Amino acid sequence: MSMETQRETHSFQAEINQLLNLVINSLYSHKEIFLRELVSNASDALDKLRFRSITEPELLGDEAALEIRITPDAEKGTLTIEDTGIGMSHEELVKNLGTIAHSGSREFLELLSQRGQKDVSLIGQFGVGFYSGYLVADRVEVVSRPPGKEQQAFRWTSEAKGTFTVEPAERATRGTAVTLHLKADQKEFLDEWRLRSLITQYSDYVGHPIQLQVKKPTDVIDAKTGEKGTTTAFETVNKASALWQRSKSELTDEQYQEFYKHLTHDYEPPLAWTHFKTDGHQQFTGLLFLPKNRPFDLDGTARRRGVRLFVKRVFIMDDCEELLPPWLRFVRGVVDSDDLPLNVSRELLQDSAVVRAIRKHVVKKTLDLLEKLSKDKPEDYTAFWKSFGAILKEGLTAEPDHREKLGALVRYESSREEGLTSLADYASRMKEGQQAIYYVFGESRKALEGSPHLETLRKRGYEVLYLTDPVDEWAAQGLREFNGKPLVSALQADLKLQESDEEKREKEQRAEGLKSLTERMKAVLQEAVREVRVSDRLTDSPVCLVLPEGGSPAFLERLLREHGRGMPRAKRILEVNPGHPVIAHLARLHERDAKSEQVTEWVELLHDQALLTEGSPLEDPNRFAKRMTALLTQLAAQAAEPPANSSTAAGAQAPEAAASPGGSTAQA
Ligand code: ADP
Repeated sequence: MSMETQRETHSFQAEINQLLNLVINSLYSHKEIFLRELVSNASDALDKLRFRSITEPELLGDEAALEIRITPDAEKGTLTIEDTGIGMSHEELVKNLGTIAHSGSREFLELLSQRGQKDVSLIGQFGVGFYSGYLVADRVEVVSRPPGKEQQAFRWTSEAKGTFTVEPAERATRGTAVTLHLKADQKEFLDEWRLRSLITQYSDYVGHPIQLQVKKPTDVIDAKTGEKGTTTAFETVNKASALWQRSKSELTDEQYQEFYKHLTHDYEPPLAWTHFKTDGHQQFTGLLFLPKNRPFDLDGTARRRGVRLFVKRVFIMDDCEELLPPWLRFVRGVVDSDDLPLNVSRELLQDSAVVRAIRKHVVKKTLDLLEKLSKDKPEDYTAFWKSFGAILKEGLTAEPDHREKLGALVRYESSREEGLTSLADYASRMKEGQQAIYYVFGESRKALEGSPHLETLRKRGYEVLYLTDPVDEWAAQGLREFNGKPLVSALQADLKLQESDEEKREKEQRAEGLKSLTERMKAVLQEAVREVRVSDRLTDSPVCLVLPEGGSPAFLERLLREHGRGMPRAKRILEVNPGHPVIAHLARLHERDAKSEQVTEWVELLHDQALLTEGSPLEDPNRFAKRMTALLTQLAAQAAEPPANSSTAAGAQAPEAAASPGGSTAQA
């Protein structure tokens, strides 16, 4: 059978088609990123081969060299990027270059449609870097052969018009050659100097030699021209050593930044990094980066890159979860251990004392890096916090050992002014006699600003932290105190306020005076609240709902219920403001008639109001509206009547007047 007849035609997955259309017609101006992507794939293929050859040395066969070769061919108008790596079988060519197992291409398409061309350079972060070849080529050919004598080579070809073909091919050694048939206006990528500078810019830190085919003058004189002729030769153009193994003093910021981009396919430089070597018990090198923006592969199925594990310079795996706790999953970088065996497996990693020791050190180094960033570059730290604060906070409960360090790193909004504050700054502003750091959970700054729960704290001039992230409720439990000051929720029944003896006595008297009313209220609301009591936190509002010891805030219960998690509705405590005219009036009505229907109506109305101010839905909004209308109707009727006596005019004392039939007993 001729090779011609063995050619198969396959269709691309629909999403890849869409992606290819976008890439091939892209107006993106930094098309050179294709080289970084293809070199990165070649380097990965070499890493994979080296890793497998640890247990299967025969895979290396006759060709021991692990390298990348880049060949420009001016005559054919092609650029070939070739490696002696793991190669692809027929099946793998079809699968890897025609379908996508994860959601990468869809997510990438969404990103492009939302944010536009400049994000083309993130293509590698989504696991579809290969297709960047079509930024500069209208036809791409891939000839690949897996290692092993008996293996056959295949050629994959596509013009990105919906299909690709696969057919048998010739290739003497294992590995992959990607040949780009450059578009007419992209011939600059045949130029030796252009290629050389791109490789040093983007790929200097690739751990394998990158050989560029260059023209060299020969001593042979050309008979026709009488000039020296040229010949071609391969020249290594990158440093090809593991960057993290070089000493810090040798490396520039730019090199670290480029290495980071190589590692993560991010287009922005990292916010900060730490590079360290340990000696003593464990010998390992670490180079850890803090990204500026949330990487797209941080969570879920797209998750691919985290900290890469190397053993004695040999790449072992991407995203080694054992090296980092989940609450530091935004960290990117490299760990290179001298103590782990080369043939280390997942199982071995999971219960290795070496790995545990490395992890401990990595956590410490990361926290030190964050602390330093927060002190030296507060603005960068704020940027970090906005991207990753919610993740870092998980550590407060997940790993209590680091509570103190994390406590110094958390940032919250506060009642003082817009913007974030640290706990240390809060503490430095605490008022005399203030016993605790106060905070309140809620959906947003706006929802919290008017919260009745904060009235007494506000009156005392106490600052309150606004915890508006859903993770806060859970995370803050791990915080409990900072520098010896307890953290107290403003929604909690016990606010730990310092009171004088006189204040205490007054409070008891007020409670005594309203005892009969609060008992009545409790009877009316027995289904809804656990207790009704006199409050010392309210100044402007008549009532509010507070949490008993250990209770969860209403919005969190709601959130959990919305997410389908069974969450029993915990009864809260209704606090009443003894100084409020509405409460005073209710007390009088109740005194006059212990069974007053009006009191019942008002108590229900006040309870509904308390629910509304904390953002909770009403059980029966209809009844609330009816009660409200009845009240307003009364008020309107009164306003229409001429006042019986000038001091009872509806208006200033509206609620009292409204509740007083005819308005004539308002002064009673
Ligand atoms: P990514 O490399 O991020 O997974 P790509 O679109 O760049 O995504 O490549 C898709 C897949 O094709 C890779 O995961 C790899 O399995 C395979 N591949 C690409 N280039 C090579 C190569 N030079 N050698 C071997 N396999 C390759």
